[in-house]
Amino acid sequence: MIIDCAYDEKLSDELVKYLTENAFQVTKDPDGIIRSNDVTLTRDDLDLFLKKTGKIKELQIIPSEKNVLIIATKIPIEGFGFVRCSICGFVMYEEELMAHERAHGIFLV
Ligand SMILES: [Zn+2]
Repeated sequence: MIIDCAYDEKLSDELVKYLTENAFQVTKDPDGIIRSNDVTLTRDDLDLFLKKTGKIKELQIIPSEKNVLIIATKIPIEGFGFVRCSICGFVMYEEELMAHERAHGIFLV
């Protein structure tokens, strides 16, 4: 698994310390990247780290490619090119929204 702390060296240092203390095998790379071949390390462990340190308020875990988790500051979904449907709240790519909302129209008529 690769944990990408998005260039946050302080966060990655803290996370490496936490994971090492919890007996996980991790390696720290530059640019806030943490690598681990430890199969017992899961997203739940990272969630727990964020909860225990209170960072859950400002940080979130974003699954990226296979085996890559990004820990980044919470930003509105719109920042990723995602939008929320005003009718049902479903989150999708911006370019899909028009067709999606049109579909609602058909159902509502
Ligand atoms: Zn909708």
